[in-house]
Amino acid sequence: MNKPKLIIVSNRLPIKIEIKKGQWQIKTSEGGLATGLGSFYKEKGGIWIGWPGTQIKDKAMASEIQQSLQRQSLEPVFLTQQEIKEYYEGFSNQTLWPLCHYFPSYASFEKKNWLAYQSVNRKFAEAVIRIASPGDTIWVHDYQLMLVPNLIREQLPDISIGYFQHIPFPSYEVFRMIPWREQLLKGLLGADLIGFHTYDDVRHFISAILRIMDVQSNMNIIAFGKRLITAEPFPMGIDFDKFHDQVSRPVTQKYSQRIIEGLEGKKLLISIDRLDYSKGILQRLSGYNTFLKDYPAYRGKIVFYQLIVPSRDKVPEYEQLKEDIDKQVSHINAQYSTLSWQPIQYFYRSWAFEILSALYYSADIALVTPMRDGMNLVCKEYIASKTDREGVLILSEMAGAARELTEAIIINPGDADGMAAAINTALQMDPSEKMQHMQIMQENIKKFNIHMWVNNFLNSLSIAKEKQQKLS
Ligand code: UDP
Repeated sequence: MNKPKLIIVSNRLPIKIEIKKGQWQIKTSEGGLATGLGSFYKEKGGIWIGWPGTQIKDKAMASEIQQSLQRQSLEPVFLTQQEIKEYYEGFSNQTLWPLCHYFPSYASFEKKNWLAYQSVNRKFAEAVIRIASPGDTIWVHDYQLMLVPNLIREQLPDISIGYFQHIPFPSYEVFRMIPWREQLLKGLLGADLIGFHTYDDVRHFISAILRIMDVQSNMNIIAFGKRLITAEPFPMGIDFDKFHDQVSRPVTQKYSQRIIEGLEGKKLLISIDRLDYSKGILQRLSGYNTFLKDYPAYRGKIVFYQLIVPSRDKVPEYEQLKEDIDKQVSHINAQYSTLSWQPIQYFYRSWAFEILSALYYSADIALVTPMRDGMNLVCKEYIASKTDREGVLILSEMAGAARELTEAIIINPGDADGMAAAINTALQMDPSEKMQHMQIMQENIKKFNIHMWVNNFLNSLSIAKEKQQKLS
């Protein structure tokens, strides 16, 4: 028998194929999951299954790409333009995403998208089934693939399956709005272990299955037919050393020196997010506006770098959000700028890791204000990058990370007065107090890093499977 292997399944592979002038090339991804699992799955003789990020129309090219990726233990699932539109942009990002982030008014419920979601989930499950052997461990990632665990279970009843959801699981009252809620939950219950970032997500999930499905639960153990399924929180960490060590590299130091010189003694406030209505960008701008209005002594003495990474900008809600942000930034700048000072520097683009690192390192305050976020990694990356420990994190209570980072200044993102007061508190804070808070948060993030997260999940999956085997 072959050695048991780990099979990772996610919507995206940890690489992206780019086609330029008819030639394809592989671009690596810097994402958290890619860093955490990148070397790990290879060490375990594993395979990563996912979409390579681009539509490949040419069959000969697809087969060439497949062979090349297989040499790196990657198995591509190719999607057509229509599948990308209906399964990914449609059901995943216009039904599940807004509901799980408590924006039900943005959710659409189109049957054609649901049909595509089912057929693409089947495509992913078939790719797993082709490769999997008895004794293997399968780890399915995120809301795009909620049906995959049960589709695999139907074909491979004894195999070990874990599922981790990177976005929040909403309250039953919101989840029940999905006409296909029962099929989605049945899909998840094919797993032996179901992980979320926070205990609240676990609670919401258990409450939804108790109301919608014919199951019993004892704390976080769910009895479904003859199987026992465990639901548990696993707050995702980051690669602490990668961010911490980068700061001392000459390239980051050079960028950081440039940023600090450009500030001419002003304090630097930063925010970094993808363009998304869940990130509370408009609420943050409103909080900063209130700060400039209510604390006039700081006018001319602080600069806010608002970095937004383009994302899903063809979806109408995102297009509208971008327009609203543009307007609000111009409004604030027009109202408060002087000949020598502009309160907001606004960037709409993505950044190289070295520059991101320099921005984190240079910033006096990071303002992270999601209306809802599964975890939020930016705030953890900021803390890991403050090697001299001089910095303050202002964090929304709606981010999963707020459960762990209790030493941050915690705010409600809808409370503009509270946000303005928090910026003032951060600016007034004594250096020794800043360092004390930062040190506690750094120790936490260093310990509960991405490697620990991977190990914890996989260990719990083995334990969950053992429990089941004892039962049968
Ligand atoms: N990020 C990036 N390029 C940029 C700005 C940010 O790759 O120009 C990364 C950032 O380092 C972080 C991720 O994007 O790891 C954002 O993760 P987070 O959990 O904060 O939000 P998400 O976008 O996953 O909702």
